[in-house]
Amino acid sequence: MNSLKLIFINLMIPSAITAVFALLVYKMSGVPSSLFSIAPYLLYALTAIVVWVSWHFNRNRFIYVLLPLIFMHLGFEYLDSAHATALYNYGSLFYPIHLLVFLVLKERGFLSVWGMAKVAFFIFELFLVLYLLNFPSIALDSFLNTKIFAISFAPIKDVSVIVGVFIAFVMGVLVLLNRYLIYNSSFLVILITFYLALYYIKVPHATETLFLAIGVIVFVILIRESYRLAFYDELTLLPGRRALVEDMAKLGRKYTLAMIDIDHFKKFNDTYGHKTGDDVLKMVASKFANVGGNGKAYRYGGEEFTILFPSRDVHESYIHVDMLRQDIAQTPFVVRSKKKKSSKTIHVNISAGMVENTSEDKDPFSVMKRADEALYRAKKSGRNRVVKA
Ligand code: GH3
Ligand code: MG
Ligand code: MG
Repeated sequence: MNSLKLIFINLMIPSAITAVFALLVYKMSGVPSSLFSIAPYLLYALTAIVVWVSWHFNRNRFIYVLLPLIFMHLGFEYLDSAHATALYNYGSLFYPIHLLVFLVLKERGFLSVWGMAKVAFFIFELFLVLYLLNFPSIALDSFLNTKIFAISFAPIKDVSVIVGVFIAFVMGVLVLLNRYLIYNSSFLVILITFYLALYYIKVPHATETLFLAIGVIVFVILIRESYRLAFYDELTLLPGRRALVEDMAKLGRKYTLAMIDIDHFKKFNDTYGHKTGDDVLKMVASKFANVGGNGKAYRYGGEEFTILFPSRDVHESYIHVDMLRQDIAQTPFVVRSKKKKSSKTIHVNISAGMVENTSEDKDPFSVMKRADEALYRAKKSGRNRVVKA
């Protein structure tokens, strides 16, 4: 489960974007109207950038978030009022479902079977809406006009509100449980922003300005995603070596550093398989992620981790690392064997070497080298222990 603090931050970033754009609409009289008239062009430009970057990063779902908004905007602008109203009703019903589908489907290359299936699905959606615009379905229209609530959400139909609330609920659960927090939280805010955009359709420029907000949210996810790709380790979700080197340069004056290594991990891999080894790495990393004493954990590489403490008090930091060592040693790890249909409980140990930086350390690497020497002594003297340099 994601921590509440992380959830809060991840919801606040897209929400702040929506809030800024909503405020622009709200304070419209103070904003030159020419600024609003360029909103659609900004959305086209952002979409073009997003298409280009997503393509390179293989993060195609963002393209599917923005394209329908552009089509809807064009429809509202250029269709006659009966058709535009129909498009509005179908859009408010289908887009939330579309968002959820593209959120949960795995990312695949455009040219893979799944990638092509997604393209086909999107084209099907477009044709479905075009068909319904030209050959309205009486059954669907009367379904859309079902009155459910005592109060009115007009111009949004009650059925669309129910669908939207249900999908927001599903996305909320994903925010709580799923590890792709950046995506889930942003899609939830995108959904809410979309409904705001439709609810205020009669307010001049509100819809295109809020559609633009969605474009900006998507653009920000892409930037955050590229940051994550560069600095975070995919398996353990901890920051990686590149982040460590940058942070050490920033910390500069005073810090304590622990180099940690899992004991006999090779034997573990050989006995239980690489996949179980990966699960152990994840378990250990999740403990490191919650280290006390303001420490920050990194995956240095393989089964080696580093923790940085922003203080020079190695004795205090030692307590936190040793608590981690004890915690990990006492955590039972269950290995299931599919073949033998049995399970076995094992225990994992770690060893660590710790140092504080001194004025003699020319660079972070000399600190790391001393920590490594301490780690070597921890291994030599029997493992499952923390040694101070
Ligand atoms: P020691 O107690 O001396 O540290 O023994 P060790 O076996 O842990 O030491 P060694 O450094 O020889 O072994 C590290 C092993 O970690 C080798 C490699 O197979 C494994 N390893 C490195 N990265 C990964 C990974 O991402 N996943 C898995 N499953 N294993 C990994
Ligand atoms: Mg090692
Ligand atoms: Mg090891």
